[in-house]
Amino acid sequence: MAKSETESGTHSGREGVSRRSVLGGMAAIGGAVATGSALQGCTDGGDAEAPDVIVIGAGFAGCVSARDLAHRGYKVTLLEAQGRLGGRAFTSEFAGKVYEAGALMLSWKEPFMWTEVMRYGLEIEPIVGVLAPEVCYWITDGKAMSAPAEEFYEIFVPPIFKFFEDVGTVFPYPYAPLTNREAVEKLDRLSVMDRVKTLPTQQERDFADNWASAPLGRAGTDVGLASSMALTSAFGGVQASLEGASYRLKKGTSNLVEKIVEDGGFEYRLQSPVSSIDQSGTGVTVTIESGETFTASAVVLATPVNTYENIDFTPPLSPEKLTVSKGKMAGGKGAHINARLKGKMPPLLAVAPSHMPLHLLLTTDILEDSVIVDGYGPDASLFDGGDPEAVQAVIRQWIPDVEVMETVSYRWDLDPFSQGTWCGFGPGVLSKYYEALREPEGNVYFASGDSATAFRGFMEGAIESGVRVARDVHNALNSRKQDLG
Ligand SMILES: Cc1cc2nc3c(=O)[nH]c(=O)nc-3n(C[C@H](O)[C@H](O)[C@H](O)COP(=O)(O)OP(=O)(O)OC[C@H]3O[C@@H](n4cnc5c(N)ncnc54)[C@H](O)[C@@H]3O)c2cc1C
Repeated sequence: MAKSETESGTHSGREGVSRRSVLGGMAAIGGAVATGSALQGCTDGGDAEAPDVIVIGAGFAGCVSARDLAHRGYKVTLLEAQGRLGGRAFTSEFAGKVYEAGALMLSWKEPFMWTEVMRYGLEIEPIVGVLAPEVCYWITDGKAMSAPAEEFYEIFVPPIFKFFEDVGTVFPYPYAPLTNREAVEKLDRLSVMDRVKTLPTQQERDFADNWASAPLGRAGTDVGLASSMALTSAFGGVQASLEGASYRLKKGTSNLVEKIVEDGGFEYRLQSPVSSIDQSGTGVTVTIESGETFTASAVVLATPVNTYENIDFTPPLSPEKLTVSKGKMAGGKGAHINARLKGKMPPLLAVAPSHMPLHLLLTTDILEDSVIVDGYGPDASLFDGGDPEAVQAVIRQWIPDVEVMETVSYRWDLDPFSQGTWCGFGPGVLSKYYEALREPEGNVYFASGDSATAFRGFMEGAIESGVRVARDVHNALNSRKQDLG
């Protein structure tokens, strides 16, 4: 395989991030990584003329803002650190099936995502373990339980409604999360676990802890209650959030990235990690690690918020953005594994209290002699997701005799250009930093799924932020043009 991941680690200047440690179990499928498949054949060259706008980071936020600006007639150059496009959307192959190392699930109720699906005529398919599980497993009071899905939902759903009973009052407008600021600030002092403790039975506590924490990728003690409620409100309330994001893109998320880039009309350069952004002269000057510089009227910084601290800003980045980045407050350190389980099994959904090594497991594919499951946990360092035996031991917390044939995982927390999984704020972050993370600084604009209006931590949020920031840049450049006569 191309040495893109290793090179990225070297470029970052961080020691000790080996390719093997990032790509747990992915060595076996090395050649199939999206770098060379879906994205092959795209231009990788530079541009002699100065662009109007430089976009930094080729995830959904960056690619969408680059496309929308180019479609408005601006000359756009996108600079991406890694040897592939897509960022935390990273499609590969596992056990002969489409595998998502990062984002997987989407809902047809996510307006920006669905617009892209329609725009490019993409096919979606249900994720069986979310949309139609037949057997559910759960852990409560330390004991493993299972039941047919219908029986499980009868006991699982009521505590979730109880937990989120005030969501409509605190977040009356999902797309303006701080409308009811006083109530949000009050709730934001609490973690999910603070409210979980108030539920009367252990089973109710375990269920609410799972459902309120797992979508934010952290343990309940580390999830802001207000952020969890804001996500529920983004889905459109408790019922809609329970129905959740239960589909996936048939050809993978990298295929959507590819469509956006093909349609984009902008130039991009891979393996171009940006090291500095300087606004002291005319325009904004961006320097990449090789020393090459680019100057434009405006810059869209579309890198994960956790990585901001690794770029030198002149003038300095606002203290608020720097605090979130340095504190790694915008992306979790969670585990994400896929495993192939031996034997025939009906589609399953398994949940556990949020602090356990895996707190969510669901069937994605049913093969002839085995099934593929997709699992999430709060801390990737708790076990080796690339080691079938370690993963088997963890899955046996639910299903005692299960046999794991092979497994794969990607350590987003060790990837220097992500420095975390997806955005799930801890207590206090939403009310204190939401606005500051979105605030332009001079001619530098900030797009990211981590600072989205709603659906922070989702592809939906990244696309929304790309659309919004492209509009803001256009308005600013347009009014400057009019001022100049
Ligand atoms: C394990 C996992 C599971 C997820 N599951 C889901 C899911 O099921 N559904 C869902 O909707 N979302 C999911 N997400 C979240 C989703 O992937 C992200 O919210 C979204 O893709 C973020 O897009 P982005 O463009 O904001 O950032 P990114 O995709 O991270 O893109 C940022 C880009 O910036 C680049 N970059 C960083 N630093 C520099 C630099 N100095 N110079 C140049 N480039 C740089 C990076 O290499 C990257 O390509 C998941 C994420 C993970 C990690």
